[in-house]
Amino acid sequence: MGDVSFQLNEDQLALQKWIHDFCENVIRPAAGEWDEREEFPWPIVEEAAKIGLYGMDFMAQIMMGDETGLTMPVATEELFWGDAGIGLAIMGSGLAAAGILGNGTPEQVMEWVPQCYGTPDKVQLGAFCVSEPDAGSDVSSLRTKAVYDEAKDEWVLNGTKAWITNGGIADIHVVVATVDPELRGRGQASFVVPPNTPGLSMGQKYSKLGIRASHTSEVVLDDVRVPGSCLLGGKDKLDEKLARAREALANPGKVRSGKQPAMATFEATRPAVGAQAIGIARAAYEYALQYATERVAFGKPIVMHQGIGFMLADMATEIDAARLLVWRAAWLSRNGTYKNAEGSMSKLKAGRTAVWVTERAIQILGGYGYVKEYPVERWHRDAKIYDIFEGTEQIQQLVIARAISGMRVE
Ligand SMILES: Cc1cc2nc3c(=O)[nH]c(=O)nc-3n(C[C@H](O)[C@H](O)[C@H](O)COP(=O)(O)OP(=O)(O)OC[C@H]3O[C@@H](n4cnc5c(N)ncnc54)[C@H](O)[C@@H]3O)c2cc1C
Repeated sequence: MGDVSFQLNEDQLALQKWIHDFCENVIRPAAGEWDEREEFPWPIVEEAAKIGLYGMDFMAQIMMGDETGLTMPVATEELFWGDAGIGLAIMGSGLAAAGILGNGTPEQVMEWVPQCYGTPDKVQLGAFCVSEPDAGSDVSSLRTKAVYDEAKDEWVLNGTKAWITNGGIADIHVVVATVDPELRGRGQASFVVPPNTPGLSMGQKYSKLGIRASHTSEVVLDDVRVPGSCLLGGKDKLDEKLARAREALANPGKVRSGKQPAMATFEATRPAVGAQAIGIARAAYEYALQYATERVAFGKPIVMHQGIGFMLADMATEIDAARLLVWRAAWLSRNGTYKNAEGSMSKLKAGRTAVWVTERAIQILGGYGYVKEYPVERWHRDAKIYDIFEGTEQIQQLVIARAISGMRVE
């Protein structure tokens, strides 16, 4: 385990500056328009891909060969400082890639992860499909079924997925489905659905409060057939896992069963999601601070009224506290014993901080904060999702409560 240091190295500082410049020059000027249009911002993502800010290499750059674990949160915070909707359009494929990396064999990783991104000339997308209309937080209740057709060595998928980032417009859909409903979460497996597979279609496209440049849709799976090789981890591993889970069901408390595939993916991505929220919070805080030094009321800049100055002091403190939790979780995931609660704590705190800070920023801008001419109302709308996706506030609390008590808090 290396020493803890929050001093960013030269590579990290250079990466941060490079992303910051792209945000200032390309993302920020376009953010309001894509929020209004509520469409996937293809031209921006393509431009990001051309300079190397979208794709496999970018993900490898921020995830691998980094002993500190901090490169990912630093890069992510900067991108989402630019805009969260566009940021998610750029980073959203990473969830599918993480699902493949977390559950696939090395061969499957080599085959499918690059296809989640494509190339700068032909940008592709990935989607990670877990949630369903009747199962969001309660991932163990998924109804989407995967049935094995032994004669053809194919899996047949049926069901509907809800609120899927890049759903229906992605090239690669990673679908979590149940193969044995009796085993609930332990009876699930992840499948890659290759591009243009018949039976997969986009259901309704949602109109959202925030992150409106990120595409969110239902994904309908109607007798979708995928080759046996699309089962992530392979059939032998699944059979072993199911046998263990059945034994555990028959011998409660005596035999340990395996991990849920979706939960393994979420565990790995929580600090990065927290960093997204911090990017939004920092954008709003910086804007409000600048505004407060310029806006005059009662003969002085409003920051000189203690009510506003103290609000900004609290905003800065909360952002730093949230960032430290995110960096700790990211560092631990690379260096130490990551018990999961640290990831949940970081995401919980960062989501709440983003919602609170952006709301305070509106307050500081007064009437200007409430109108679309200024970006602060958009940042507040964007921030709210961080209390909801990748585990709601209450689900993070549940994970933390279980970790600190060692008991099954329900
Ligand atoms: C914009 C957006 C993008 C998304 N992208 C994806 C994606 O790419 N892939 C994907 O699979 N999913 C995605 N989701 C789905 C998201 O992960 C779920 O919406 C989220 O997990 C919550 O599930 P739910 O909406 O069914 O709420 P529910 O689980 O029904 O929760 C409703 C309320 O009850 C609370 N609650 C539930 N269970 C408990 C409990 N045990 N104790 C205390 N309180 C509880 C929740 O905290 C919440 O407040 C996305 C959602 C949105 C809105």
